[in-house]
Amino acid sequence: MIIQPKVRGFICTTAHPDGCARAVQDQIDWVKRQAPFDGPKKVLVVGASTGYGLASRIANCFGAGAATLGVFFERPASGKRTATAGWYNSAAFHEAARNDGYYARSINGDAFSDEIKAETIAAICEDLQAVDLVVYSLASPRRIHPRTGENFSSVLKPIGGTYTNKTVNVQSGEVSDIAIDPASEEEIAHTTAVMGGEDWQMWIEALDEAGVLADGVRTIAYTYIGPEITHPVYRDGTIGQAKNHLEQTAKALDEHLQAKSGSAHISVNKAMVTQSSAAIPVVPLYISLLYKVMKEKGCHESCIEQMHRLFAFGLYAGASTDAEGRIRIDDREMREDVQREVVALWEQVNTDNLESLSDIEIYRSEFLGLFGFGFAGVDYSVDVDPERGL
Ligand code: NAD
Repeated sequence: MIIQPKVRGFICTTAHPDGCARAVQDQIDWVKRQAPFDGPKKVLVVGASTGYGLASRIANCFGAGAATLGVFFERPASGKRTATAGWYNSAAFHEAARNDGYYARSINGDAFSDEIKAETIAAICEDLQAVDLVVYSLASPRRIHPRTGENFSSVLKPIGGTYTNKTVNVQSGEVSDIAIDPASEEEIAHTTAVMGGEDWQMWIEALDEAGVLADGVRTIAYTYIGPEITHPVYRDGTIGQAKNHLEQTAKALDEHLQAKSGSAHISVNKAMVTQSSAAIPVVPLYISLLYKVMKEKGCHESCIEQMHRLFAFGLYAGASTDAEGRIRIDDREMREDVQREVVALWEQVNTDNLESLSDIEIYRSEFLGLFGFGFAGVDYSVDVDPERGL
């Protein structure tokens, strides 16, 4: 099969196995060039196939020599359909980990369900006995509640009033105003049910009840704060409410884990081109300006650089936290000089000057890169077998 990108709005419906393998290998190679760090030894990553979860898995495996068990929701290839990028990423990760002698196993299915939690616990009992780090890095548009069967959908909306600001159509380069109506109370509750902390808590309780959390276990989940430009649709919007809930859950879990000298943490990460952030209105335009400014200032970081810094110099190095107890690896994004310049560009940017004022071209190539496209050394005109085993 010859595989080309098919972009529909903010997703790409095809993925390239060799390109995804290249992207994973690039992350692994980057970690191998850093000094090894003293980190966890047996890690469970929930949401391990793309974005921050995949980078967490790579950083801890190749940086700290950890055995990793990954949980994700991806689709293998079937008939004329390619697999999803996360499937190919995980296949490539497994191969590289095993080649280097590291344990790697993955479970593909709905992490919100009791069945997948039980399957994960069985895998830990079989192979690892206990885990000493649980990374919770899910990003999902929906969740079926495992106890009530209720179907929740998350929305990305402001709260309290209509929000109008600039946004970009990444493919056409058109910058226009977008007006987003405020969420209803029900939509706020649904978004919190999907992206808040309830499922994280269910995971930790299930793992604890099964006796598979090691003494001194740590668990961490990721949040975002970002600049004022995006606050109405992010931090002060529905997703922000969910993140507040996630952050509150960290406090409850931290207390719960004290009994086994464990702890729960929140890391505030930098805005990054991922499949999830591409879906948020306004954010892709902000990211394309942010990347430009951070690259010019030499302080830009990719997913793997962020996750390596988090684990090697943060969580396992006694990192300082903010007043809310969160680890801040968004410090460079939030630097006053960076934000001042992004805001100045934000005020000027329009369809005509987008290419020169922003890194929209880099945004586009990173977006396609998420699906394995655009890598030097991969011949996209060659017939490839889309099947890959985990
Ligand atoms: P992503 O879309 O790249 O990854 C999401 C992961 O969740 C994938 O592995 C996917 O398979 C998995 N997943 C989704 N639904 C699932 C389900 N039902 N069962 C099992 N697995 C499922 O997302 P990301 O951008 O890396 O986000 C990860 C976390 O980081 C989120 O909490 C997000 O809010 C946070 N974060 C992201 C950014 C950013 O700019 N991308 C910034 C700060 C924090």
